[in-house]
Amino acid sequence: MAIQSNRLSKEKLLENFSDVHPPFEHAEGAVIESNRCINCFDAPCTKSCPTSIDIPLFIKQIASGNIKGSAKTIFSSNIMGGGCSKVCPVEKLCEGACVYNLLEEEPIHIAKLQRYSTEKAIENKWKLFTRKPSNGKKVAVIGAGPAGLACAHALSLEGVDVTIFEKEAKGGGLMTYGVAAYKVSPEFCEAEVNYITSIGGIDIQYNKALGKDITIAELQKKYDAVFLGIGVGVARELAIPGENLEGVVDAISFIYDLRTNDYSKIAVGDKVAVIGMGMTAIDAATQSKRLGAKEVTMIYRRTENEKPCTEVEYDLAKLDGCSFIWLAAPKEVLGENGKVKQLVCSKMTLGEPDASGRRAPVDTGETFAVDVDMVIKAAGQIPFEELVAKSSIQNKSGKISISPKAETNMKGVFAGGDCVNGGKEVVDAVQAGKDGAKGILQYIGLSK
Ligand SMILES: Cc1cc2nc3c(=O)[nH]c(=O)nc-3n(C[C@H](O)[C@H](O)[C@H](O)COP(=O)(O)OP(=O)(O)OC[C@H]3O[C@@H](n4cnc5c(N)ncnc54)[C@H](O)[C@@H]3O)c2cc1C
Repeated sequence: MAIQSNRLSKEKLLENFSDVHPPFEHAEGAVIESNRCINCFDAPCTKSCPTSIDIPLFIKQIASGNIKGSAKTIFSSNIMGGGCSKVCPVEKLCEGACVYNLLEEEPIHIAKLQRYSTEKAIENKWKLFTRKPSNGKKVAVIGAGPAGLACAHALSLEGVDVTIFEKEAKGGGLMTYGVAAYKVSPEFCEAEVNYITSIGGIDIQYNKALGKDITIAELQKKYDAVFLGIGVGVARELAIPGENLEGVVDAISFIYDLRTNDYSKIAVGDKVAVIGMGMTAIDAATQSKRLGAKEVTMIYRRTENEKPCTEVEYDLAKLDGCSFIWLAAPKEVLGENGKVKQLVCSKMTLGEPDASGRRAPVDTGETFAVDVDMVIKAAGQIPFEELVAKSSIQNKSGKISISPKAETNMKGVFAGGDCVNGGKEVVDAVQAGKDGAKGILQYIGLSK
C-alpha cells in the first residue's frame, strides 16, 4: 500500500474531473425545458432560494428568447447566480420545492436553465448593471469569497468605493479553493470574479491578510465601514492518537491542493478512509476515487438516516464506488515507520436526540480496525477563533455575532457568511453579503 500521485493518465483525470452537470447542448433544449414551467402563482422555488431569485420570471424570459433579461433577473438577486447554478444543492432548495415533485414528475431543471443564461452573460461580458457615480464613501471588505463579493457589488452599485483585502492570490473564496473540481472549474471562478468586479469601484488587494498585514482598528480609521467575510477555514481535529502520522490529512487542505495544482500531482492512497458524511467528506471521497484511489471508505458515527449530505451527493459517492461504514467513530490511527497502516474505530449505537434533533451516537465500547494507508479528516470546520478573539469582536466559539442589521458589536464593523453561520452554502453567503451591504448603506447614510 502506498500514497502516490500520477495514478491515472492525463486523459482519464480530465474525464474524471469534467463537468458533473453538463449544460444544455443546444438553445432549443433550454427553450423546451423553460416551457415546462407552469408559473405557479406562489412560486415555491423562489421562496426556497435564500437569495429569492424570481425563478418563474427568469424561466419565462428564457422561453421568450430574452436571455439578457433572464440573466439580469438572476444577477439582480444573486450576483453569483452563475456559480450557484453549478454548486447549489438544488435538490434541497429550488428544485426540491418545484411542484412537479408532488406530481411525481421531474422538477424543472432550474439550475441548468440558470446556468444557461448566466454563462452566456459571463462569457459575453454583458454589462447588465451601471454603478451610481462615486459618492466619496469608502468601505473595506475582508475576504473575496461569495459573502465579500456580494457585499462589494451591492455597495459599488450605490456609488461606494470598495477595497477588498484577500489573503489568497485569487478571489472566489471556497468556490475557487474548496468546491469539488467536477462542479466548477478554476477558469469559471476567475471569470465570475472578473465579471462581478467589472462594474467598477471594487479594488481587490490580494495576498493581504487581516491579522497579519492589516488590523480592524486601522481599517476603522481609514474607511467609513468594514465588512468581514472571512469564512471558516480551519478543519476540526479528530483529537485521537496517531493523528500526526504521515498519511493523515485534512479534507480542506487536500481539496485546496487539488484545486491549485495539476490533478496528476495530487497524491492519494490505495485504501483511503474519509471521516465524516457531510458535503466536504463526500467531495474528499469522490475526488480521491477520481484521482485513482483503489478503495475509499466513508466512516460515519451515526446511521445512513442521519447523514448530513444530500441524497444527490450520497448517490454521487455510491456511483464513484465509495463504500460506507455506519455507526463508527475513529478512535486511533495505527502506523508503521511513521506511516498510516490501520484505522481503529469504536462501534457506536444511537442514543437520545442531541441539540441537532438527531439521535446522538453512543460508544458501545467495542472496536474494530480497517486497513488503510490514508485518512482524510472531514469532520467539520471550525471558525478562526484566534483571529476573532484578538479583535474583541463578540463571538460564540469564534462564530461572529451580528445584529439583525448584520452589525457586530464594533462600531461600523459588519459581518456575514460562513464566519457568522459557521458554514452553510454559497447561496447563503451571497445573501449574507447583500444583508451586510444593506446594513452598511443605512449606517453610512445612503439609505433609510
Ligand atoms: C470542501 C467544501 C466544499 C463545498 N462545496 C459546496 C458546494 O458544492 N455548494 C455550496 O453551495 N457550498 C459548498 N461549500 C460551502 C461554501 O463554499 C461556503 O458556504 C461559502 O464559500 C462561504 O462563503 P464566504 O464568503 O462566507 O466564505 P469563503 O468562501 O470561505 O470566503 C472567505 C474568504 O476570506 C478570505 N480570508 C479568510 N481569512 C482572511 C484574512 N485573515 N484576511 C483576508 N482574507 C481572509 C479567504 O481566503 C476567502 O477568500 C463547500 C465548502 C467546503 C469547505
